[in-house]
This record gives sequence, structure tokens and C-alpha cells, in this order.
Amino acid sequence: MKETTWIIDSQSGALTVEGLQQSDLMRLAADLLPSGKPVNCARPINIEPFRRSSAHPVDDEPSLRVYRIYHNSVVEGPGRRSVLQAAGCLQRCPACFVPETHSIHGGVEMKISDIIELLLAPEGEPRDGLTILGGEPFLQPDGLAALMRALKQRGQHITVYTGYTLEQLIARSEAAIRQALELTDILIDGPFVKELSNNAGEWVGSTNQRVIFHPSLSLAV
Ligand code: SF4
Repeated sequence: MKETTWIIDSQSGALTVEGLQQSDLMRLAADLLPSGKPVNCARPINIEPFRRSSAHPVDDEPSLRVYRIYHNSVVEGPGRRSVLQAAGCLQRCPACFVPETHSIHGGVEMKISDIIELLLAPEGEPRDGLTILGGEPFLQPDGLAALMRALKQRGQHITVYTGYTLEQLIARSEAAIRQALELTDILIDGPFVKELSNNAGEWVGSTNQRVIFHPSLSLAV
């Protein structure tokens, strides 16, 4: 049998297994575990969409439309991460894992200061960094760049997922997109392609998606 990696979350008890075909895993699991249940790509499940009636953006403070925030993800970037899922995506990849995030009117419009408060909770969730995904974070470039500036001021490592390719983002003219790319430690780019999803590898959903360290190196000076 191939080498496999088993990760048990000490807080939630969640088990993540890498390196096995699903059929092999099911055979092995049947011997070791009670009946399995589907999960959404091994990220924490049963997280409610974000709803806060107290979140009212003000005109002079940057904001971002947020679908939900969660902690302790071990599959969306290196280590253990707190995650912001932005609302809105226009790509409509077939078999997208998160169709509930697609509406640009979904989630809650939140001030960046409120987002920071929840992402970096004072009591502290154990984390190696922050991940921003969607939906499509680059649909809201001004809010995205403002959030990333605030996170970088606090010394956070940032991974960003996008359904666009890096080349498509670089071709856009908004200054906020350039700044967001400059502040990104890891960019995972490209749409999800179901036909390329088998054994896609670490952090990505399909093999067309790339893990790009410091995408700012691709920006023209
Ligand atoms: S880009 Fe991401 S969120 Fe948007 S449809 Fe594709 S997989 Fe879903």
C-alpha cells in the first residue's frame, strides 16, 4: 500500500486522510471506524453562514461582503488556519463545493475592523495563518486589499484562493488587485475543474490550480 498521511484534529476529533484512493480508504475505514459521512473537502463542516445584525458598514471605512468565518482548517493552506469565505462568485464551475456562496447579495457586509476582531479572536484560536477564499475574493478588490493590509500589519501569513488565473488578475487595472497580490504569501489560482479533481494534491481542488508562492514576483516592476 502507498504511504498515507493521517491527521487527527485534537480539538474536534476530525480525521483527514491523504494518499489513498477513495475505494482503498473505504475498505480500510470499514475495518477501523464506524460508518463514514460526507464532508466538504475535509474542511470543518456545519458552519453556519455569517449573519450579524450588528454589522453595519460606514461610508468612510472599508468593508467586505463575508459569507462565513471559521477556524481550525487544516486543508486550506499550510498548517492550521482561520478562514474567511467571501460572498459572491460569477464563475459557476460545475460541481463547485460551495454554491451557497455564489450570490453577490449573500453573506453580510462587514467592516474590516469587525472582520479582524472575529478572525483574530482575542481568546485565540491556534493558527499558522489566515486563508481568504470564496466565493471569489477578487470580486471585492478594495475590501480584500484593505483586509489584507490590516492582517499584514498584524504579522499574519496570508493564503488566497481565486477562481481566476494569476495572469487574468495581473491583466486587470485596479490598483487594489495589485496590492492584494503584493500582500499574498500563497495564491492558489484557477477555476475548479471536476474532471481534474482526482488526486489533485495538497490544498488544491483540481490539478489545473497552481500553488504560487509570493505572486508579487510575477508583477512587472
Ligand atoms: S471559482 Fe471557486 S467558488 Fe467560484 S464557482 Fe469555481 S469553485 Fe466555486
